[in-house]
Amino acid sequence: MQYADIIVDISHENIDRTFQYRIPEDLQQQVRPGTRVEIPFGNRKGMTGYVVGLSSVPKIPEDKIKDILGIQKRAVDIDSRMLTLAAWIKENFGGTMNEALKTVLPVKKAVRAVVHKEIRLIVSEEEAEKAYAEAYKKHYVAKARLIRELITDHVLPLELVNNKLNISGPTINSLKNAGVIEVAEIKDEKNTVRMTGTKVTLNDEQRTAVDTVINDYDNGRFGTYLVYGVTGSGKTEVYLEIIEHVIGKGKQVIVLIPEIALTFQTVMRFSRRFGNRVAFFNSRLSDGERYDQYQKARNGEIDIMIGPRSALFTPFSNLGLIVIDEEHEGAYKSEGVPKYHARPVAEKIAEMTGSSVVLGSATPSLEAFKKAKDGEYKLLCLKKRAKHAVLPTVKTVDLREELKKKNRSIFSLDLVKAIDDRLQKHEQVLLFLNRRGYSGFVSCRSCGEAVKCPHCSVSLTRHYDGSLKCHYCGYEIPELKECPSCGSPYIAAFGTGTQKVEESVKKLFPAARVLRMDADTIKEKDSYEKILSAFSNEEADILIGTQMIVKGHDFPKVTLVGILAADLSLHVSDYRASERTFQLLVQAAGRAGRAELNGEVIIQTYKPDHYAIETSVKQDYDSFYEREMAYRKALLYPPEGHILAVLFYGQDENTTFDVCTNAVKSMVDKTKAFFDNNKMMMNGPAKASISKKSDLYRFVVYFKSLDYGCLTEICAALDSLTDEIKRRGVSVQTDFDPMSGY
Ligand code: ADP
Ligand code: ZN
Ligand code: ZN
Repeated sequence: MQYADIIVDISHENIDRTFQYRIPEDLQQQVRPGTRVEIPFGNRKGMTGYVVGLSSVPKIPEDKIKDILGIQKRAVDIDSRMLTLAAWIKENFGGTMNEALKTVLPVKKAVRAVVHKEIRLIVSEEEAEKAYAEAYKKHYVAKARLIRELITDHVLPLELVNNKLNISGPTINSLKNAGVIEVAEIKDEKNTVRMTGTKVTLNDEQRTAVDTVINDYDNGRFGTYLVYGVTGSGKTEVYLEIIEHVIGKGKQVIVLIPEIALTFQTVMRFSRRFGNRVAFFNSRLSDGERYDQYQKARNGEIDIMIGPRSALFTPFSNLGLIVIDEEHEGAYKSEGVPKYHARPVAEKIAEMTGSSVVLGSATPSLEAFKKAKDGEYKLLCLKKRAKHAVLPTVKTVDLREELKKKNRSIFSLDLVKAIDDRLQKHEQVLLFLNRRGYSGFVSCRSCGEAVKCPHCSVSLTRHYDGSLKCHYCGYEIPELKECPSCGSPYIAAFGTGTQKVEESVKKLFPAARVLRMDADTIKEKDSYEKILSAFSNEEADILIGTQMIVKGHDFPKVTLVGILAADLSLHVSDYRASERTFQLLVQAAGRAGRAELNGEVIIQTYKPDHYAIETSVKQDYDSFYEREMAYRKALLYPPEGHILAVLFYGQDENTTFDVCTNAVKSMVDKTKAFFDNNKMMMNGPAKASISKKSDLYRFVVYFKSLDYGCLTEICAALDSLTDEIKRRGVSVQTDFDPMSGY
């Protein structure tokens, strides 16, 4: 490669404005995407340029191309750090340099300068209490919530109330008109009140966890830590303490939280502790707002950025720590290209900046726990709940037995009895419908077996025509009329919707007040928050919901969690199905008995003896880990081995298949040594199980290896083919260690 594509002024907008330069012979080994070089530009010498691509063909006449003058080795600035990061993401997760750069650099857009205002309580606390009681009685949820917070704090930044707490203008105006509050401009930014920090005294386990991290930190040892703590063990308090220490050293912090868990409670918790030094990031921010947040970080106006995956790319100049809460969450893997995972990217950023990484979960991903076992991460355990020692009691109900008892309803007799009991005691009930994979697999209602692929030990997926297919190898059988295991005719695609559950609950318990939360009921902007606060204000007895009710909420009055059809998520056709099921069940069970009252959990299942169910009943992560790792090891699935999925898609089926097979052949030729030495295996190419999507035909090939590096080389081999692939009207996408099948 003797030519380099170079950006002169690095920004999201300039990514496509590259200039080609010649790489002098003696620099050819060193110039890579991500390298910072010195170039002549216009009539200026010694300008800084950033290499984003290499090629062997000149794009303009040879004699017009200028030479790179040298490689710049001055101290790294944030821009070149971002560029290096983009190059690393491209190498390890595929896609183009362009796509990687667009991921790490924000779009530059101006936002109106905002006047910073604050809300002040201007009545006595007694009067505020009265106003609260009235708002509460009239079900003005947002109003009641705001007064509640003002009784604690008296003054709150308007921005926090508006954007982060999701409380709207009309609510604020109505309180203003009633003479309860005033809204005033903040005169001196630096003097804004820091809200009342409610600091708990850490227990011994928490203290040990915090001390381990900060002692290492103070001694210049920057590592990755896994805080493995049962639900409610006080992980967030541990993060807060570590964060405070790190910013005390003049460093900055990025905190990743799954968007759905970034609730009112969480925002208040961080704001109370860190005041206006903390900023929040969410996917609803406009480009301008996002850019504004990034600028604040760059200028050192804030110390902490909290948000989902993309908050990772906050350009702090003095980063010291990255926290990833609920580390096991699938949302940390990007769905768009490049399909990067936040965990390894965070570790890479930490390595580049001299930062530590703190991961936390009650149900760690196998990836993280394996590294902790291998000594790559330090494991910090919190075994007890912080406020009160007891975890809920958990039991299973075998749905096959219910069918024998002629009970065909969604609820087992035990669950009905338990719900009845809680309603009498005026305690609350959570009904969790495990709906993941709802529309896919086929199982037998008599024996509970799901139909599986004989080659891959994953469930087959039902297609529209009734045939069953394997996502991994393309194995296919026609529609089944009876169960292959027991011959029963009660074999069907499975599924019960939340709506149906709601109807049944209302029939069985006509007096109960019921709320439902699923994709349908949270379409409106703040309905998610509304349902949650209505339930925690005890405006309902029963909350029915899907995955989204499982995430870190505290409902002190919930003493019963019912899990309907726990095994639904076991049959999703991918190798992570058991892991996901275990995580969901443990997290759902963790919602029971969070306060003084003891909790009970009833898990309804067709497979009480499946290890994912058995171990989740005992809340026994370690046993689950052993069983699951044995399975992953046997089949070389992650984290034991690694998988690279390469998807080709195009408008014409034959062309796409032709391009795909040619490309794969060429990739295999270039990496022949791996195949000869048995370091790499290949499945496919074959029709993807979603063989046509948005009118595009899809073909997929899977590579599997113990060595991630072999897969990145396969990916690199694909690089030189992409121009030709594109020219024939086909697109290609790479996915390392995919989270789901294609
Ligand atoms: P997790 O993040 O592990 O689910 P949290 O940090 O949210 O746990 O803590 C659960 C509850 O226990 C919270 O209400 C928190 O304020 C409280 N808590 C945590 N640590 C302590 C402690 N050391 N003393 C008293 N309460 C605590
Ligand atoms: Zn059967
Ligand atoms: Zn298969």
